[in-house]
Amino acid sequence: MIISGKELSAKLKAEMAERVATFPAEYGRVPHLVVILVGEDPGSVSYVKGKAKASAEVGIRNTTIRRPDTITEDELLGMIAELNADDGVDGILVQLPLPKHIDEDKIIAAIDKSKDVDGFHPLNVAALWQKQPCTLPCTPKGIMKLLKDSGVELAGRKAVVIGRSTIVGLPVAKLLLDENATVTITHSRTKNLADVTREAEILVVAIGRPKFVTADMVGDGAVVIDVGVNRDPETGKLCGDVDFEACEPKASLITKVPGGVGPMTIACLIENTIEAFLKKVAK
Ligand code: NAP
Repeated sequence: MIISGKELSAKLKAEMAERVATFPAEYGRVPHLVVILVGEDPGSVSYVKGKAKASAEVGIRNTTIRRPDTITEDELLGMIAELNADDGVDGILVQLPLPKHIDEDKIIAAIDKSKDVDGFHPLNVAALWQKQPCTLPCTPKGIMKLLKDSGVELAGRKAVVIGRSTIVGLPVAKLLLDENATVTITHSRTKNLADVTREAEILVVAIGRPKFVTADMVGDGAVVIDVGVNRDPETGKLCGDVDFEACEPKASLITKVPGGVGPMTIACLIENTIEAFLKKVAK
């Protein structure tokens, strides 16, 4: 069976739209997300468009600020300082990656923690690992919603995550651990990877290599979550890290690319923006 992120995200966005429609009467305005896009990277341009489209669907305000890749680090820091100080801005997202002359960590740390709707700020990351209230990073949050909505039991089950990035692999492993799964994190130096992944009852794949996970790496009845967004070198079409056609017959549940984790990431970004807004107006 296919787990559809497209369907679940549509349902979540419709629910959020209903709530947001009540905000002008209740709070005098709707949540405001500001997205900063530096440069013209086609992938980033398309992600930013997707975020603006989802904002419109839910009825939140979205401002996309575009700057050339010649912008200096100081100029970008100055923009963030202004947005931090602006009471009419609830969420700030700087689309990554940034040009090499800009220190991404410095930029992320400069965003006010309460406006960090990506959940990448060091204080949010620390709070996640200390089980404190925090803004969850959007992709791991979306993956957990997909698993829960599909009724996947996590407590006591073997989960394997391929990839240990700070934005996907590590936080999703932590969230699975918090749900009492027994979690193994694998990476490029893992020996006999297929032996490890075949044991997984829940397999989350976040590598960035087209169709890397083949049928022999998936155990019978596994739940497979494919985070990858790649171009298939043969067809040029969008594809995941999992060879879907080969693995689908072995999996009990599996996500597809596109239409799986991607739309959930965006829905969670909107949710994080609404949560940041509500925390502010509730003060
Ligand atoms: P990343 O920072 O490049 O991390 C990739 C991870 O995969 C690393 O931990 C790396 O191991 C591991 N890896 C690479 N080759 C491997 C191999 N041969 N065997 C086992 N592990 C291997 O990537 P990321 O940011 O996590 O993104 C991963 C993928 O998810 C990309 O395709 C990205 O576009 C996609 N993504 C999708 C969404 C969404 O919303 N759908 C959001 C974020 C990312 P080492 O640590 O040892 O190098």
